Amino acid sequence: MSERKVRVRFAPSPTGPLHIGGVRTALYNYLFARQNGGELVFRIEDTDSTRFVPGAEEYIIEAFRWLGIGFDEGVSFGGNHGPYRQSERRDIYKKYVGLLLEEGKAYVAFDTPEELNCKREQVQNFQYDARTRGEMRNSLTLGEEETRRLIEAGEQYVVRFKINPGEEIHVDDIIRGDVKVMSDILDDKVLYKSADELPTYHLANIVDDHLMEITHVIRGEEWLPSAPLHVLLYRAFGWEDTMPRFAHLPLLLKPDGKGKLSKRDGDRLGFPVFPLEWHAEDGTVSSGYRESGYLPAAVVNFLALLGWNPGTDQEILSMEELIAQFDLTKCSKSGAKFDYVKGQWFNREYLQATPDAELAPEFDAILRQNGIQAPIERVEAVVGMMKMKKINFVKELWPLCDFFFIAPT
Ligand code: GLU
Repeated sequence: MSERKVRVRFAPSPTGPLHIGGVRTALYNYLFARQNGGELVFRIEDTDSTRFVPGAEEYIIEAFRWLGIGFDEGVSFGGNHGPYRQSERRDIYKKYVGLLLEEGKAYVAFDTPEELNCKREQVQNFQYDARTRGEMRNSLTLGEEETRRLIEAGEQYVVRFKINPGEEIHVDDIIRGDVKVMSDILDDKVLYKSADELPTYHLANIVDDHLMEITHVIRGEEWLPSAPLHVLLYRAFGWEDTMPRFAHLPLLLKPDGKGKLSKRDGDRLGFPVFPLEWHAEDGTVSSGYRESGYLPAAVVNFLALLGWNPGTDQEILSMEELIAQFDLTKCSKSGAKFDYVKGQWFNREYLQATPDAELAPEFDAILRQNGIQAPIERVEAVVGMMKMKKINFVKELWPLCDFFFIAPT
């Protein structure tokens, strides 16, 4: 198993702009793939059609292009494990759901949302599982013939995973060690919905990781609660020999306190939480790192150190150095505070190290906005002279340098 070529994936759902935490996840996958001579796959998990946002996929691709995080395979990159968009893989999932049904590892359930709500009102902490499935309207209680009749009559149904109680499940996590969970706390998760003929996240995710020969699943901590179910699914399919190893990354926390970093923190404290500016359908615009004047290498360096550090006091690391030094086993378990001021510091460091000729065009554009046309050599010279002042962004040069271009009045 350890001889398998390293293959990892970044698998966002196109529900909007990519959050900066997702960028860090993709970056860690990229570093891990590169340092192991492996491959990084870009998969779009769009099985929840109600949450689909047009433009999100293109946005994500553009963000990684800007950041210099390259994929080897996937949506827009090609490869021979496609299609890489889950909405284009319906037949594949149907087949695997069928296998679980045939082997009695899953069953068909007809309970309507109303019936389920009613049950939830009657029974405190109701969970659809081994204790309750016998009281519900499913193929286990109705029998094969009646089930077939209902399906043929066009009644909508879901397929649920049949979880056996009393089992200890182990998630082998590179960062968190052996995570143990009793199967009793899990419910019989919905794997497939007849209404849209699509699988749910869990089934599609496992089937794809298997078929795409993924060896390591590196993702955010918020997916840790799903991992025991995923282990059981691998087992149900008989794929335990090629089950990927998991690594659940630490959460990104608010800059000024406890709790998960949110878009609201960015609005409140004035920093972007998205890589690129995002124009929502309702007309609201969210700021991005690119449009705010960050250099992509500074953003990469800043993010790489949120949850991992090289164990020395070196803070400025190029992509090559990150690839060489990154160590997934040394990622922290506890959340990483999103210190956006540190992010600005990184940008200043990178600005100072960037050749003047590369910075000049951005400043030249600002000059033009202010009605000034100067020879580019002059712009370059001013940038070179002034960038060593405590500026974090090129746009901060204008108020410092206007006297070079405007005669005193
Ligand atoms: N589609 C999930 C997401 O949006 C993928 C989670 C995973 O990596 O398994 O992050």
